[in-house]
Amino acid sequence: MLLANVFLFRISYIFFKVIVLDECIFCKIVKGEIPCTKLYEDEQVLSFLDIMPASKGHALVIPKNHYATLLDMPHEELKSVTETIQKVAAATMVALPGVEGFNVLQSNNEVAGQVVPHVHFHIIPRHKDDKLNFAWEQGKSEMAELKKYAEIVKGNLK
Ligand code: AMP
Ligand code: ZN
Repeated sequence: MLLANVFLFRISYIFFKVIVLDECIFCKIVKGEIPCTKLYEDEQVLSFLDIMPASKGHALVIPKNHYATLLDMPHEELKSVTETIQKVAAATMVALPGVEGFNVLQSNNEVAGQVVPHVHFHIIPRHKDDKLNFAWEQGKSEMAELKKYAEIVKGNLK
């Protein structure tokens, strides 16, 4: 009974902080206020299993500091995050049965499918004949159009 009450209190607390106060759920995981299944942690980076996995072993890698998107991240922290992606992906490949590859996915802004507004990378283990499908319909392009877009983008590189 006591355990059930503590559990209910904890769930209400999390609901209040995340839904009512609109606090970032990943920042709360970093602070230890919400539990996670931790895979790796250092000063700048945290990796844990996704709670609604696309496949077994689906992991997330996040910077501990809150940044909304990839564009907001300092290079130094991005470097630590990418090193962690490589570390966790390598462990996943050797440790989990039947894993023959993996996808790294990262979405920026709602239009791209980002739900949690704290930058994160998905590592999604792939098995032979799994039903996951990240393919898109291939478009057509004219060389002149490609050149036009290339010039526009190049003109805005910093
Ligand atoms: P995205 O759609 O790229 O923003 O992905 C957000 C991901 O965070 C989803 O795959 C969720 O399943 C995952 N997620 C949300 N809350 C939690 C949580 N408390 N612990 C672990 N993963 C979570
Ligand atoms: Zn955050």
